Amino acid sequence: MAELVWKQAREAARKVLDGNWDQQVPVKIEQICRACGVTTYKCIMPDDLSGMIVKRAAERDAKAFIDKEEPGVRQRFTLAHELGHFIERTVIAQDDEYGFEEVRMGGRREKDYFPHEFFADEFAGAILMPESKVEEFQSAGKDVAAMAQLFDVSVSAMRMRLDNLQRQ
Ligand SMILES: [Zn+2]
Repeated sequence: MAELVWKQAREAARKVLDGNWDQQVPVKIEQICRACGVTTYKCIMPDDLSGMIVKRAAERDAKAFIDKEEPGVRQRFTLAHELGHFIERTVIAQDDEYGFEEVRMGGRREKDYFPHEFFADEFAGAILMPESKVEEFQSAGKDVAAMAQLFDVSVSAMRMRLDNLQRQ
């Protein structure tokens, strides 16, 4: 089951990249969100939230809200994570009404982490750090910090992605 979820997330990210990515890094995640049907809002969030996504049955697009006070790399990851929820719920499960809230570190890996949050995190890493570019940078001898900068992600997100890519 766990294996299926990450494979599904990776495959879903690959499909979104295939249709929407200009092969440049950093990946233009806001633009891709809009192209997929997720309207993004940067705002001041309640204290314990770094982001959320809401989809109403009556509306075509989902709305993603991101805490504008968080560092840019964190905002990008949260946005990519929300797009992951959208792809998993709207595109794969064909669910037309749902919502997810991202509780800041600490409250994070709770009861419902699996499979929705797991999918969204795996998806986020895969879309922000496309495998082809990771391979390109690795063969050019770039280290983790340099790659993180090129992808405009945090060093810990970069490490996680490199670890995840070890699973084949
Ligand atoms: Zn989430």
